[in-house]
Amino acid sequence: MTTASPKWPGLISIVVPVYNEARCLAALHARLCAALDAYPGLRREFVFVDDGSRDGSFELLAALGAQDPAIKAVRFARNFGKESAMAAGLRAAVGDIVVLMDADLQHPPEIIPEMIERWRGGAQMVTAVRRSRRTDPLARRLFSRGFYHFFHALCDVDIPEGAGDFRLFDRRVVDAINALPERNRFMKGITSWVGFRQEEVVFEVAARAGGESSFNTLRLLRYAIDGLSSFSMVPLRVWSLAGVLLAGLSGLYGLYLLGEAMVFGVQTPGFPTIMVSMLFVSGVQLISLGVIGEYVGRIFTEVKRRPLYLIADEIGFAPPAALPTA
Ligand code: UDP
Ligand code: MG
Repeated sequence: MTTASPKWPGLISIVVPVYNEARCLAALHARLCAALDAYPGLRREFVFVDDGSRDGSFELLAALGAQDPAIKAVRFARNFGKESAMAAGLRAAVGDIVVLMDADLQHPPEIIPEMIERWRGGAQMVTAVRRSRRTDPLARRLFSRGFYHFFHALCDVDIPEGAGDFRLFDRRVVDAINALPERNRFMKGITSWVGFRQEEVVFEVAARAGGESSFNTLRLLRYAIDGLSSFSMVPLRVWSLAGVLLAGLSGLYGLYLLGEAMVFGVQTPGFPTIMVSMLFVSGVQLISLGVIGEYVGRIFTEVKRRPLYLIADEIGFAPPAALPTA
């Protein structure tokens, strides 16, 4: 089957999650407009999702929106996290193609034309992959490497290393992603899970244009655990294997002790052995309980069926407003 997409998109949506990015927004808007001006026939909309910023980002968006009718913005009732903001933006966007990108200008708008060309060539999803991570601190680079290795080893879906959340989607892909019911979102995994014809373009990450990254070590760790437990059952299953191994080993050790007692007689009472094995086994038990807890917690959030986010205000949407359909 050939693709039903038109050779030319009628409307492009640029979706941007925003959390305390007041310093970057005007420059981002200007650079986006400059990049899109290369396509005069292409109508555009900017969908900004203010994820509970406290630095006046939304007011700034309102001011920008007064000058540019292409700007739409929703404001969350509080900070719901980047994944929720991206989900809201993808639901609100109505374009034939949708570009998802960060607000902090680390994702250069100038490569959007290249992504559009790939789409015209037949790609349904174009992922911008960063050439290097030199703008990231060393600890974070190591962490990311470790995470990707782990993810590749444990999960059925593959995520390209270096892929951030800078992507162009065909309408079909957006509809497919919007139709996914899960509440724990992990965009990097989802985009790879849905499949479709995917291509990559390479770009050089810029340093943040202003402000600072809102992902500290703890938040990154949380993000990594979310990603792994959304897409892998291995952490849950590995414990039965560990249990069998451990039981086998302690059986052998028991036999060895028995043999020793029979040949040499009973040695000093085995306080160290008991201590060591007890601590070891309780450690393993605690870890495995934690892993089970991780998945049970996940079931808990899914079962509650709470919406991913709540919208407090919006600008630029014609009524009836785009509601968060749970
Ligand atoms: N972001 C968001 N909600 C959050 C944290 C971040 O919408 O709770 C947005 C942020 O405004 C930016 C993007 O997600 O547009 C990436 O965030 P950041 O630059 O802090 O992450 P990094 O580039 O360090 O991965
Ligand atoms: Mg950033």
